[in-house]
Amino acid sequence: MMSGIEGKVIAITGASSGIGEATALLLAERGAKVVLAARRSDRIEALAARITEAGGEAVAVVTDVKRRADLSRLVATARERYGRLDVLVSNAGISPISALDDLRVEDWEAMVDVNIKGVLYGIAEALPVFREQGSGHFVHTLSTAGLSIVPTMSVYAGTKNAVRAISEGLRQEAGETLRVTTVSPGFIRTELAGSITDPDARNGIQASMDKIAISPDAIARAIAFAIEQPAGVDVGEIVVRPTAQS
Ligand code: NDP
Repeated sequence: MMSGIEGKVIAITGASSGIGEATALLLAERGAKVVLAARRSDRIEALAARITEAGGEAVAVVTDVKRRADLSRLVATARERYGRLDVLVSNAGISPISALDDLRVEDWEAMVDVNIKGVLYGIAEALPVFREQGSGHFVHTLSTAGLSIVPTMSVYAGTKNAVRAISEGLRQEAGETLRVTTVSPGFIRTELAGSITDPDARNGIQASMDKIAISPDAIARAIAFAIEQPAGVDVGEIVVRPTAQS
């Protein structure tokens, strides 16, 4: 496996805003070739243009992580454009949180589809490529919500903890040539609260965000730290939260 960040081909889901966008910008600045994935084509195309205008390398691939075929196209585009895929950052996520009593079953299903199945489809498409190359790195965005369960967050936390378990299993099965990293952010200033359908839950999270949230750059730096380690060094789990978060 190549070490450092320069020259690596890195695909990032959820690159149209927040943590994914900040990560793409930082990695591109450090010389990575970034493959930007999200549903909002205008946002990822504008980001790709911004990166290339600054002298970096980027391509946008409209991707809905609920569709395996889209992940297949994402990985294929990385290989066609840049010849390989070194890292898949599965970061796309939604958090339409609410109390279980509200029975917002469609929101539960949406979280399972994006937060769990979206990551699994990424594994399904990238793992054979990583095996063929003899190297590769999975980075999965979890949440501190999975470390300390609170009311309204149970399904969201469940999806993140499902990915924690999958990531650890993947790491154990990966052998010497693959790396697996999970990053658990605390309150980060992004658009995430906008995906909360329950008004009370949205207002509550927004109030906490306004008070203590930190910049998505903090998570981008953590992801960069994991990627830049020498081959043979696997940064397993990173937790990054505001100092003001309990
Ligand atoms: P944002 O809402 O800013 O970003 C979410 C990203 O996910 C967007 O780029 C969105 O793009 C993408 N996305 C959502 N659904 C899909 C889909 N079906 N297919 C492809 N992309 C999708 O929030 P964050 O940056 O905060 O979220 C990034 C990750 O960080 C998530 O996994 C979230 O759970 C996690 N996290 C965030 C925390 C926070 O406080 N902000 C705390 C803990 C974890 P588009 O809509 O264009 O498809």
